[in-house]
Amino acid sequence: MAIRNIREFGDPVLNKVCKEVQEVTPRTQELIDDMLDTMYEANGVGLAAPQVGILKRIVVIDVTGEDPLVLINPKILETSGEQTGNEGCLSLPGKAGIVTRPNYVKCEAYDRDMKPYVIEGEELLARAICHELDHLDGHLYTEKVEGELMEAGEEEYEDEES
Ligand code: ZN
Repeated sequence: MAIRNIREFGDPVLNKVCKEVQEVTPRTQELIDDMLDTMYEANGVGLAAPQVGILKRIVVIDVTGEDPLVLINPKILETSGEQTGNEGCLSLPGKAGIVTRPNYVKCEAYDRDMKPYVIEGEELLARAICHELDHLDGHLYTEKVEGELMEAGEEEYEDEES
């Protein structure tokens, strides 16, 4: 288990566009394992590779704490509906803001064996997918916050950070 350093707001690596993964090497597997460890350690529900300083299109998400998802080269196929709620980011610890996202997302991605699959998510999972995919294009949720960025309560920290 290896915990990587999470890059914080202001680090230029968070504003870069990530490169597609061509093949999953043992190094990529190690990165994915470390990303999962780092996400769980920080009580997050999602983490994107640029948040640990790696400019590759890899995301890990787990909104239940027992269902880790690995999304490599993810692409959103379809969205519908709308949800407005609190959102946070492990790169902005202690902060939260109101963000409107689709309530449903259908996304294609490759798993850690580079097998393609389709994932559908609603509510928090849909929010997490949108938030993490934004990271791969150098975007942070602060660009979408309605109103002011707020100090996050402990509860939001655990439930919403990604
Ligand atoms: Zn984030």
